[in-house]
Amino acid sequence: MSRNAKIVATIGPASQNEEVLERLIRAGMNVARMNFSHGTQAEHAAHIATIRAISERVGQAVGILQDLQGPKIRVGELPAPIQLSEGETVYLFATGTKPPDGDGQRIPVDFRQLFDSCRTSDRLLLDDGRLTLEVVSVKGRDTLTARVIVGGILTSHKGINLPGVRLRIAGFTEKDEADLAFGISQNVDAVAISFVRSADDVKKVRYAMQRFSNGKRLPLLIAKLEKPEAIDHLDSILDNVDGVMVARGDLGVELPPEQVPALQKLIISKANARAKLVITATQMLESMIMNPLPTRAEASDVANAIFDGTDAVMLSAESASGKYPVEAVQMMDRIVREAESHFDEWGKHFAAVNGFEASDAASMARAAQALANDKNVTAVACFTTQGQTAWLMSKIRPRVPIMAFTPDDVTYRRLAFLWGVRPQRVPFANSLEEMLGYVDSALMRSEVVQSGDQVVLVCGFPVGAVRPPNMALLHTVGE
Ligand code: PEP
Repeated sequence: MSRNAKIVATIGPASQNEEVLERLIRAGMNVARMNFSHGTQAEHAAHIATIRAISERVGQAVGILQDLQGPKIRVGELPAPIQLSEGETVYLFATGTKPPDGDGQRIPVDFRQLFDSCRTSDRLLLDDGRLTLEVVSVKGRDTLTARVIVGGILTSHKGINLPGVRLRIAGFTEKDEADLAFGISQNVDAVAISFVRSADDVKKVRYAMQRFSNGKRLPLLIAKLEKPEAIDHLDSILDNVDGVMVARGDLGVELPPEQVPALQKLIISKANARAKLVITATQMLESMIMNPLPTRAEASDVANAIFDGTDAVMLSAESASGKYPVEAVQMMDRIVREAESHFDEWGKHFAAVNGFEASDAASMARAAQALANDKNVTAVACFTTQGQTAWLMSKIRPRVPIMAFTPDDVTYRRLAFLWGVRPQRVPFANSLEEMLGYVDSALMRSEVVQSGDQVVLVCGFPVGAVRPPNMALLHTVGE
């Protein structure tokens, strides 16, 4: 059984050497996420180059997802971890300014705007909500005094959330803009933007992408949904992106955690109905940061995301800084395969409606789906230049694998994000015979199809003329 849903793994100190990267790819990492909250551009460039070289060597498409930091407020550099105890008074100050006087521990903060947005009695949640502070007073524009409500150990660069507080911070920061320009120069395949609040936040990034790309194909644009405002504007955000991420880490801090499961289902079903990509992220195998096996609850969580209909599941610290990055990808692969073998019993079969407007590509995808359902077919094979046919095929969720053939490097890597799609790079085909030849040899090399099996071929005819597909044909492999 091959796997349909894709695995996104975050690259970090635990996974950035070449040997581990190769093991991650061989274990089933389809997309490497570069988290621009950490690391320098030079470091990311080196990792991207290594991943692409391994992907070529191994013959497995790997997409690169650039995750922009966004207006994330973080603790600055602490000389050493500090223990915060309940009831204690602490001082927060803007990094680069003089630490305030007084008895109590001092915590530097990277975003000066925090001090403009906070009021007495506001709650600050640190380290994904593990620690809580309550603001006692704000002094000037760079210092505040707070009381520890829930204590614990605090280390450098942990996130700070202010649920319910409207932050006076631009959604797309100067750092994001510089990182985006860099990402486009590196030909990243997708860009995720953090803390999106409205469709306007997304449009600004799309506009910046156009400015930086000089006519090149734009990367996919993915909105991370982690603010309550984004849920309020879910429809208009979906209309303006290629995909979304259910960013459960911050979402479950900005909103009560008990709301996350239903929101996950809502986001996945709305994204699928609009034919948008959806990635479910964060804490999926959290305990594997320290342990070689997940908890049973984590295994259930990954499987349930599959049953909800997600296109991809994501690892964060498990693969970036945990002790078992490769084992985490292997475990995720096993859980996903097992869940998919039970999809007919427990999975949500959604009806894609929007995004499937009357177009030749959509009609051909539907025709191929009907053939795959009616006949004894082992795969759908589609020839795709921009990836659109494979995208629509993926979103229709046929019951057989989608073998997607393309001569285009950019498309080849993008296909790695798509549910059910096995990317294949082939030379440009000039005739139907040539096309069938590529299909036969690629399919027979794969574990998916045997000689004599029937497949549905979706392509444009006359072959060689670049056009939306207009042909769905039954073909017996090897004949
Ligand atoms: C999240 O909050 O779930 C998330 C994916 O964002 P990040 O890891 O960038 O904080």
